[in-house]
Amino acid sequence: MKNFFNKIAFAFQRFMYGRYGLDQLGYALLIFYSLVLIMANLFLKRPIWLDYLLMIVLILFYFRIFSKNVYRRSKENAYFMRFYNPLKNFIRKKRTRIKKMKDYRYFRCPKCKSELRVPKGRGKIEITCPSCHHKFERKS
Ligand SMILES: [Zn+2]
Repeated sequence: MKNFFNKIAFAFQRFMYGRYGLDQLGYALLIFYSLVLIMANLFLKRPIWLDYLLMIVLILFYFRIFSKNVYRRSKENAYFMRFYNPLKNFIRKKRTRIKKMKDYRYFRCPKCKSELRVPKGRGKIEITCPSCHHKFERKS
């Protein structure tokens, strides 16, 4: 039995040789597919275009995994990452901010609009902007 599974694994490895496989865009497609599927199931009357959309996403997902044009697929992924990275950074920034909200207060400098952070609970304090050295008062 073990031999049988080894043979299957080997055959699959041979099949996948020279094929592209899964990348970040692949994962994103899969996550998108799952989210749309969950949404689709929430609709009582499931619209037909939603099923078409799901099918297209799934076909794209498998097409990219089994594709032998590694160059094109990695270019697609790089293109995707150009949009995904700024989004990831934005979400990460918001998350740290929520985590630190109980210890810090966030202000925007009235002059240069840059964002700055001060410890909470110090009463009225004078804040010096680190980028333009403008001074202003706020309650912390
Ligand atoms: Zn400033």
